[in-house]
Amino acid sequence: MTDDTAVPQSILVDDIGSLVTNDPSRGRGVVGEVEEAALVIEQGRVAWSGPRSQAPAADARVDAAGRCVLPGFVDSHSHIVFAGDRSREFAARMSGLAYSAGGIHTTVEATRKASDSALLSGARTLLREARSQGTTTLEVKSGYGLTVADERRSLEIARRITDEVTFLGAHVVAPEYADDPDGYVDLVSGPMLDSCAPLSRWIDVFCERGAFDEQASRRVLAAGRERGLLLRVHGNQLGEGPGVRLAVEMGAASVDHCTYLAPEDIEALAEAAARPEPTVATLLPGVDFSTRQSYPNARKLIDAGARVALASDCNPGSCFTSSLAFCIAVAVRDTGMTPDEAVWAATAGGALALRRDDVGHLAPGARADLILLEAPNHLYLAYRPGVPQVAAVWKDGELVAGSPDNGA
Ligand SMILES: [Zn+2]
Repeated sequence: MTDDTAVPQSILVDDIGSLVTNDPSRGRGVVGEVEEAALVIEQGRVAWSGPRSQAPAADARVDAAGRCVLPGFVDSHSHIVFAGDRSREFAARMSGLAYSAGGIHTTVEATRKASDSALLSGARTLLREARSQGTTTLEVKSGYGLTVADERRSLEIARRITDEVTFLGAHVVAPEYADDPDGYVDLVSGPMLDSCAPLSRWIDVFCERGAFDEQASRRVLAAGRERGLLLRVHGNQLGEGPGVRLAVEMGAASVDHCTYLAPEDIEALAEAAARPEPTVATLLPGVDFSTRQSYPNARKLIDAGARVALASDCNPGSCFTSSLAFCIAVAVRDTGMTPDEAVWAATAGGALALRRDDVGHLAPGARADLILLEAPNHLYLAYRPGVPQVAAVWKDGELVAGSPDNGA
Protein backbone atom coordinates (compact mmCIF):
# COMPACT_ATOMS: atom_id res chain seq x y z
CA MET A 1 0.00 0.00 0.00
CA THR A 2 1.16 3.53 -0.66
CA ASP A 3 1.32 6.08 2.09
CA ASP A 4 -1.25 8.77 1.28
CA THR A 5 0.74 11.42 3.05
CA ALA A 6 3.90 10.72 1.02
CA VAL A 7 2.50 10.03 -2.46
CA PRO A 8 0.29 12.70 -3.99
CA GLN A 9 -2.95 11.34 -5.44
CA SER A 10 -2.81 13.78 -8.32
CA ILE A 11 -0.12 15.97 -9.88
CA LEU A 12 -0.77 19.14 -11.86
CA VAL A 13 1.88 19.79 -14.51
CA ASP A 14 1.36 23.50 -14.80
CA ASP A 15 2.54 26.38 -17.00
CA ILE A 16 3.16 24.23 -20.08
CA GLY A 17 4.13 26.65 -22.86
CA SER A 18 3.05 24.19 -25.54
CA LEU A 19 1.34 20.84 -25.03
CA VAL A 20 1.28 18.20 -27.78
CA THR A 21 -1.88 16.15 -27.21
CA ASN A 22 -1.97 14.39 -30.61
CA ASP A 23 -5.70 14.93 -30.47
CA PRO A 24 -6.62 17.39 -33.26
CA SER A 25 -10.01 18.01 -31.61
CA ARG A 26 -8.20 19.53 -28.62
CA GLY A 27 -5.73 21.85 -30.32
CA ARG A 28 -3.88 23.04 -33.39
CA GLY A 29 -2.82 20.81 -36.26
CA VAL A 30 -2.24 17.08 -36.47
CA VAL A 31 -0.46 17.21 -33.09
CA GLY A 32 -3.38 18.95 -31.34
CA GLU A 33 -1.11 21.61 -29.86
CA VAL A 34 -2.47 23.60 -26.92
CA GLU A 35 -0.53 26.68 -25.81
CA GLU A 36 -0.53 27.87 -22.18
CA ALA A 37 -1.65 24.43 -21.11
CA ALA A 38 -1.70 22.15 -18.09
CA LEU A 39 -2.13 18.46 -17.47
CA VAL A 40 -3.18 16.39 -14.46
CA ILE A 41 -1.69 12.97 -13.69
CA GLU A 42 -3.67 10.60 -11.51
CA GLN A 43 -2.99 6.90 -10.88
CA GLY A 44 -0.55 6.71 -13.75
CA ARG A 45 -2.97 8.16 -16.27
CA VAL A 46 -3.73 11.56 -17.75
CA ALA A 47 -6.80 12.62 -15.77
CA TRP A 48 -7.14 15.98 -17.50
CA SER A 49 -5.35 18.11 -20.13
CA GLY A 50 -6.19 21.46 -21.70
CA PRO A 51 -5.88 25.22 -21.32
CA ARG A 52 -4.16 26.20 -18.11
CA SER A 53 -6.92 28.65 -17.21
CA GLN A 54 -9.35 25.74 -16.86
CA ALA A 55 -7.09 23.33 -14.96
CA PRO A 56 -8.64 21.59 -11.97
CA ALA A 57 -6.94 21.51 -8.56
CA ALA A 58 -4.49 18.72 -7.69
CA ASP A 59 -2.53 17.52 -4.65
CA ALA A 60 0.89 18.47 -6.02
CA ARG A 61 2.28 20.76 -8.69
CA VAL A 62 5.14 20.48 -11.18
CA ASP A 63 6.23 23.72 -12.84
CA ALA A 64 6.90 23.31 -16.56
CA ALA A 65 8.01 26.98 -16.59
CA GLY A 66 6.73 27.66 -20.09
CA ARG A 67 8.38 24.63 -21.61
CA CYS A 68 6.92 22.02 -23.99
CA VAL A 69 5.28 18.74 -22.91
CA LEU A 70 4.65 15.99 -25.43
CA PRO A 71 3.75 12.28 -25.28
CA GLY A 72 6.66 9.92 -24.62
CA PHE A 73 8.11 8.51 -27.83
CA VAL A 74 6.72 5.16 -28.94
CA ASP A 75 9.61 3.37 -30.62
CA SER A 76 7.96 0.48 -32.41
CA HIS A 77 11.12 -1.15 -33.79
CA SER A 78 14.34 -2.14 -32.01
CA HIS A 79 16.81 -5.01 -31.76
CA ILE A 80 18.53 -4.32 -28.44
CA VAL A 81 19.10 -7.89 -27.20
CA PHE A 82 22.55 -8.60 -28.64
CA ALA A 83 26.25 -8.80 -27.91
CA GLY A 84 29.29 -7.72 -29.86
CA ASP A 85 30.61 -4.59 -31.49
CA ARG A 86 30.29 -3.61 -35.13
CA SER A 87 31.77 -0.14 -35.07
CA ARG A 88 34.57 -1.18 -37.45
CA GLU A 89 32.02 -2.52 -39.92
CA PHE A 90 30.33 0.88 -39.76
CA ALA A 91 33.63 2.62 -40.41
CA ALA A 92 34.33 0.28 -43.34
CA ARG A 93 30.91 1.04 -44.78
CA MET A 94 31.55 4.75 -44.48
CA SER A 95 34.81 4.11 -46.35
CA GLY A 96 32.83 2.79 -49.30
CA LEU A 97 31.75 -0.81 -48.63
CA ALA A 98 28.06 -1.61 -49.27
CA TYR A 99 25.65 -2.79 -46.56
CA SER A 100 24.05 -6.22 -47.00
CA ALA A 101 21.79 -8.22 -44.71
CA GLY A 102 24.55 -10.82 -44.09
CA GLY A 103 26.45 -8.67 -41.56
CA ILE A 104 23.88 -9.84 -39.02
CA HIS A 105 25.88 -13.07 -38.64
CA THR A 106 28.63 -11.23 -36.78
CA THR A 107 26.12 -10.28 -34.11
CA VAL A 108 24.56 -13.77 -34.09
CA GLU A 109 27.93 -15.30 -33.28
CA ALA A 110 28.61 -12.87 -30.43
CA THR A 111 25.06 -13.13 -29.05
CA ARG A 112 25.13 -16.93 -28.91
CA LYS A 113 28.39 -16.80 -26.95
CA ALA A 114 27.17 -14.17 -24.46
CA SER A 115 25.80 -15.03 -21.01
CA ASP A 116 22.18 -14.30 -20.10
CA SER A 117 23.30 -11.63 -17.67
CA ALA A 118 25.50 -9.90 -20.26
CA LEU A 119 22.60 -9.80 -22.73
CA LEU A 120 20.18 -8.52 -20.10
CA SER A 121 22.55 -5.88 -18.85
CA GLY A 122 23.27 -4.68 -22.41
CA ALA A 123 19.55 -4.43 -23.17
CA ARG A 124 18.86 -2.62 -19.90
CA THR A 125 21.60 -0.09 -20.62
CA LEU A 126 20.07 0.67 -24.02
CA LEU A 127 16.57 0.85 -22.54
CA ARG A 128 17.81 3.39 -19.98
CA GLU A 129 19.55 5.31 -22.72
CA ALA A 130 16.34 5.37 -24.81
CA ARG A 131 14.24 6.36 -21.82
CA SER A 132 16.48 9.27 -20.90
CA GLN A 133 15.91 10.53 -24.44
CA GLY A 134 12.15 10.32 -24.10
CA THR A 135 11.20 6.83 -25.26
CA THR A 136 8.52 5.45 -22.94
CA THR A 137 7.34 2.50 -25.07
CA LEU A 138 9.91 0.32 -26.81
CA GLU A 139 9.30 -2.72 -28.97
CA VAL A 140 12.12 -5.27 -28.77
CA LYS A 141 12.80 -8.12 -31.20
CA SER A 142 14.73 -11.37 -31.01
CA GLY A 143 16.63 -12.38 -34.13
CA TYR A 144 20.29 -12.72 -33.15
CA GLY A 145 19.96 -16.25 -31.75
CA LEU A 146 18.55 -18.18 -34.71
CA THR A 147 18.38 -21.48 -32.78
CA VAL A 148 15.34 -22.56 -30.76
CA ALA A 149 17.21 -22.09 -27.47
CA ASP A 150 18.88 -18.80 -28.39
CA GLU A 151 15.73 -17.20 -29.80
CA ARG A 152 13.78 -18.27 -26.73
CA ARG A 153 16.47 -16.84 -24.47
CA SER A 154 16.45 -13.51 -26.32
CA LEU A 155 12.68 -13.27 -25.90
CA GLU A 156 12.87 -14.10 -22.20
CA ILE A 157 15.33 -11.22 -21.81
CA ALA A 158 13.18 -8.87 -23.92
CA ARG A 159 10.16 -9.67 -21.72
CA ARG A 160 12.07 -8.46 -18.68
CA ILE A 161 12.30 -4.95 -20.12
CA THR A 162 9.16 -4.49 -22.26
CA ASP A 163 5.66 -5.77 -23.01
CA GLU A 164 6.13 -5.28 -26.75
CA VAL A 165 8.07 -8.41 -27.61
CA THR A 166 8.56 -9.65 -31.17
CA PHE A 167 9.74 -13.05 -32.35
CA LEU A 168 12.10 -12.54 -35.29
CA GLY A 169 13.55 -16.00 -35.88
CA ALA A 170 13.16 -15.08 -39.57
CA HIS A 171 15.78 -12.33 -39.40
CA VAL A 172 18.24 -14.16 -41.66
CA VAL A 173 18.77 -17.85 -42.40
CA ALA A 174 20.87 -19.33 -39.59
CA PRO A 175 24.44 -20.15 -40.70
CA GLU A 176 23.84 -23.87 -40.02
CA TYR A 177 21.14 -23.81 -42.69
CA ALA A 178 23.09 -21.91 -45.37
CA ASP A 179 22.63 -24.83 -47.78
CA ASP A 180 19.06 -25.57 -46.71
CA PRO A 181 17.13 -22.30 -46.38
CA ASP A 182 13.79 -24.14 -46.68
CA GLY A 183 14.81 -26.28 -43.73
CA TYR A 184 15.35 -23.12 -41.71
CA VAL A 185 11.90 -21.82 -42.63
CA ASP A 186 10.50 -25.20 -41.44
CA LEU A 187 12.30 -24.70 -38.14
CA VAL A 188 11.18 -21.08 -37.67
CA SER A 189 7.54 -21.79 -38.48
CA GLY A 190 7.56 -25.09 -36.56
CA PRO A 191 9.54 -25.99 -33.42
CA MET A 192 11.09 -22.52 -32.95
CA LEU A 193 7.69 -20.86 -33.15
CA ASP A 194 6.21 -23.44 -30.75
CA SER A 195 8.86 -22.49 -28.22
CA CYS A 196 8.78 -18.72 -28.83
CA ALA A 197 5.11 -17.88 -29.43
CA PRO A 198 4.12 -18.02 -25.75
CA LEU A 199 6.76 -15.35 -25.01
CA SER A 200 5.79 -12.97 -27.81
CA ARG A 201 3.04 -10.59 -28.85
CA TRP A 202 4.34 -10.19 -32.40
CA ILE A 203 5.99 -12.15 -35.20
CA ASP A 204 8.18 -10.40 -37.75
CA VAL A 205 10.03 -11.45 -40.91
CA PHE A 206 12.80 -9.81 -42.91
CA CYS A 207 11.28 -10.02 -46.40
CA GLU A 208 14.25 -8.89 -48.45
CA ARG A 209 16.83 -10.00 -50.96
CA GLY A 210 19.47 -11.86 -48.91
CA ALA A 211 16.95 -12.77 -46.19
CA PHE A 212 13.51 -14.33 -46.93
CA ASP A 213 11.55 -14.29 -50.19
CA GLU A 214 7.82 -13.74 -50.48
CA GLN A 215 6.86 -17.39 -50.21
CA ALA A 216 9.00 -18.06 -47.15
CA SER A 217 7.85 -14.81 -45.52
CA ARG A 218 4.22 -15.72 -46.08
CA ARG A 219 4.75 -19.13 -44.48
CA VAL A 220 6.39 -17.63 -41.40
CA LEU A 221 3.68 -14.98 -40.95
CA ALA A 222 0.83 -17.45 -41.49
CA ALA A 223 2.30 -19.85 -38.94
CA GLY A 224 2.67 -17.03 -36.42
CA ARG A 225 -0.86 -15.85 -36.97
CA GLU A 226 -2.12 -19.39 -36.37
CA ARG A 227 -0.41 -19.29 -32.96
CA GLY A 228 -2.20 -16.04 -32.14
CA LEU A 229 0.68 -13.65 -32.84
CA LEU A 230 0.14 -10.27 -34.51
CA LEU A 231 2.17 -9.53 -37.61
CA ARG A 232 4.96 -7.09 -38.53
CA VAL A 233 7.23 -7.12 -41.57
CA HIS A 234 10.67 -5.73 -42.47
CA GLY A 235 10.36 -4.85 -46.14
CA ASN A 236 11.55 -2.73 -49.03
CA GLN A 237 14.77 -1.68 -47.30
CA LEU A 238 17.38 -2.52 -49.90
CA GLY A 239 15.23 -2.35 -53.01
CA GLU A 240 11.68 -2.72 -54.26
CA GLY A 241 10.15 -6.07 -53.38
CA PRO A 242 7.07 -7.91 -52.16
CA GLY A 243 7.33 -6.91 -48.46
CA VAL A 244 4.86 -4.03 -48.42
CA ARG A 245 2.16 -5.77 -50.44
CA LEU A 246 2.53 -8.96 -48.40
CA ALA A 247 2.20 -7.01 -45.15
CA VAL A 248 -0.93 -5.25 -46.37
CA GLU A 249 -2.45 -8.45 -47.75
CA MET A 250 -1.90 -10.31 -44.47
CA GLY A 251 -3.11 -7.45 -42.28
CA ALA A 252 0.22 -6.76 -40.56
CA ALA A 253 0.18 -3.87 -38.08
CA SER A 254 3.24 -2.39 -39.70
CA VAL A 255 5.72 -2.76 -42.53
CA ASP A 256 9.03 -1.25 -41.60
CA HIS A 257 11.68 0.50 -43.74
CA CYS A 258 9.63 1.31 -46.91
CA THR A 259 12.71 2.94 -48.39
CA TYR A 260 12.05 1.72 -51.94
CA LEU A 261 8.39 1.78 -52.91
CA ALA A 262 6.66 1.17 -56.24
CA PRO A 263 3.52 3.24 -56.95
CA GLU A 264 1.37 0.16 -56.19
CA ASP A 265 3.04 -0.19 -52.77
CA ILE A 266 2.03 3.37 -51.91
CA GLU A 267 -1.51 2.67 -53.16
CA ALA A 268 -1.70 -0.48 -51.05
CA LEU A 269 -0.55 1.40 -47.93
CA ALA A 270 -3.04 4.20 -48.58
CA GLU A 271 -5.87 1.69 -48.91
CA ALA A 272 -4.73 -0.15 -45.79
CA ALA A 273 -4.77 3.14 -43.87
CA ALA A 274 -8.55 3.28 -44.16
CA ARG A 275 -9.04 -0.06 -42.41
CA PRO A 276 -10.07 -0.17 -38.75
CA GLU A 277 -6.72 -1.89 -38.13
CA PRO A 278 -4.40 -0.25 -40.66
CA THR A 279 -1.02 -1.40 -41.88
CA VAL A 280 1.30 1.44 -40.90
CA ALA A 281 4.34 2.37 -42.99
CA THR A 282 7.10 2.67 -40.39
CA LEU A 283 10.09 4.63 -41.62
CA LEU A 284 13.51 4.03 -40.08
CA PRO A 285 15.53 6.95 -41.44
CA GLY A 286 18.36 6.31 -38.96
CA VAL A 287 19.10 3.16 -40.96
CA ASP A 288 19.24 5.00 -44.25
CA PHE A 289 21.48 7.56 -42.56
CA SER A 290 23.82 4.93 -41.09
CA THR A 291 23.99 2.82 -44.24
CA ARG A 292 24.23 5.86 -46.51
CA GLN A 293 21.21 4.81 -48.54
CA SER A 294 18.48 6.84 -50.18
CA TYR A 295 15.77 8.04 -47.83
CA PRO A 296 12.14 6.94 -48.03
CA ASN A 297 9.68 9.46 -49.40
CA ALA A 298 7.38 10.21 -46.49
CA ARG A 299 5.81 13.11 -48.34
CA LYS A 300 4.47 10.81 -51.07
CA LEU A 301 3.14 8.34 -48.50
CA ILE A 302 1.40 10.96 -46.37
CA ASP A 303 -0.03 12.78 -49.39
CA ALA A 304 -1.40 9.47 -50.69
CA GLY A 305 -3.15 8.92 -47.35
CA ALA A 306 -0.88 6.27 -45.77
CA ARG A 307 -0.33 6.22 -41.99
CA VAL A 308 3.35 6.78 -41.26
CA ALA A 309 5.34 6.03 -38.10
CA LEU A 310 8.96 6.74 -37.22
CA ALA A 311 11.09 4.29 -35.23
CA SER A 312 14.77 3.89 -34.42
CA ASP A 313 15.55 0.29 -35.50
CA CYS A 314 18.22 0.52 -32.80
CA ASN A 315 20.61 -2.34 -33.64
CA PRO A 316 24.38 -2.82 -33.76
CA GLY A 317 24.65 -3.27 -37.52
CA SER A 318 22.63 -0.87 -39.59
CA CYS A 319 21.64 1.84 -37.11
CA PHE A 320 22.99 2.15 -33.60
CA THR A 321 20.92 5.04 -32.35
CA SER A 322 18.20 4.94 -29.70
CA SER A 323 17.31 8.61 -30.25
CA LEU A 324 13.87 9.31 -31.67
CA ALA A 325 14.75 13.00 -31.61
CA PHE A 326 17.53 12.24 -34.07
CA CYS A 327 15.13 10.23 -36.26
CA ILE A 328 12.66 13.13 -36.21
CA ALA A 329 15.37 15.56 -37.32
CA VAL A 330 16.47 13.30 -40.18
CA ALA A 331 12.87 12.61 -41.21
CA VAL A 332 12.17 16.32 -41.43
CA ARG A 333 15.41 17.08 -43.25
CA ASP A 334 15.41 14.17 -45.67
CA THR A 335 12.05 12.41 -46.06
CA GLY A 336 9.80 15.40 -46.67
CA MET A 337 7.92 15.30 -43.36
CA THR A 338 6.90 18.52 -41.66
CA PRO A 339 8.07 18.86 -38.04
CA ASP A 340 4.47 18.29 -36.88
CA GLU A 341 4.15 15.12 -38.93
CA ALA A 342 7.46 13.76 -37.68
CA VAL A 343 6.60 14.34 -34.02
CA TRP A 344 3.20 12.72 -34.58
CA ALA A 345 4.86 9.77 -36.34
CA ALA A 346 7.30 9.15 -33.45
CA THR A 347 4.49 9.18 -30.87
CA ALA A 348 0.94 8.51 -32.14
CA GLY A 349 2.29 6.82 -35.29
CA GLY A 350 4.37 4.41 -33.22
CA ALA A 351 1.35 3.65 -31.06
CA LEU A 352 -0.73 2.87 -34.16
CA ALA A 353 2.05 0.61 -35.44
CA LEU A 354 1.83 -1.28 -32.13
CA ARG A 355 -1.99 -1.18 -32.14
CA ARG A 356 -2.01 0.69 -28.85
CA ASP A 357 -4.51 3.42 -27.97
CA ASP A 358 -3.23 4.02 -24.42
CA VAL A 359 0.08 5.61 -25.48
CA GLY A 360 1.22 8.18 -28.06
CA HIS A 361 -1.28 10.86 -27.02
CA LEU A 362 -2.12 12.94 -23.95
CA ALA A 363 -5.90 13.11 -23.95
CA PRO A 364 -7.60 12.07 -20.69
CA GLY A 365 -7.36 8.32 -20.16
CA ALA A 366 -3.95 7.96 -21.84
CA ARG A 367 -1.05 6.59 -19.86
CA ALA A 368 0.84 9.44 -18.22
CA ASP A 369 3.91 8.84 -20.40
CA LEU A 370 5.31 12.26 -21.12
CA ILE A 371 8.37 14.27 -22.00
CA LEU A 372 9.21 17.71 -20.67
CA LEU A 373 11.38 19.40 -23.30
CA GLU A 374 13.94 22.07 -22.52
CA ALA A 375 12.32 24.08 -25.30
CA PRO A 376 9.24 26.21 -25.86
CA ASN A 377 7.65 23.81 -28.37
CA HIS A 378 8.03 20.49 -30.19
CA LEU A 379 9.45 22.10 -33.35
CA TYR A 380 12.74 22.31 -31.48
CA LEU A 381 13.18 18.53 -31.84
CA ALA A 382 13.94 18.99 -35.55
CA TYR A 383 15.16 22.57 -35.25
CA ARG A 384 18.03 21.73 -32.86
CA PRO A 385 19.39 18.38 -34.08
CA GLY A 386 21.85 16.53 -31.86
CA VAL A 387 21.09 18.66 -28.81
CA PRO A 388 19.91 16.91 -25.63
CA GLN A 389 16.64 18.71 -24.95
CA VAL A 390 14.77 16.14 -22.85
CA ALA A 391 14.58 17.61 -19.35
CA ALA A 392 12.38 14.98 -17.72
CA VAL A 393 10.46 11.83 -18.60
CA TRP A 394 7.45 10.29 -16.82
CA LYS A 395 6.24 6.76 -17.45
CA ASP A 396 2.89 5.70 -16.00
CA GLY A 397 2.95 8.94 -14.04
CA GLU A 398 6.33 8.27 -12.44
CA LEU A 399 9.40 10.34 -13.09
CA VAL A 400 11.86 7.89 -14.72
CA ALA A 401 14.53 10.24 -16.10
CA GLY A 402 15.78 13.77 -15.58
CA SER A 403 14.17 16.42 -13.45
CA PRO A 404 11.48 19.03 -14.06
CA ASP A 405 13.54 21.52 -12.06
CA ASN A 406 14.81 24.12 -14.55
CA GLY A 407 17.29 25.56 -12.12
CA ALA A 408 15.36 28.82 -11.91
ZN1 LIG B 1 14.93 -4.01 -37.87
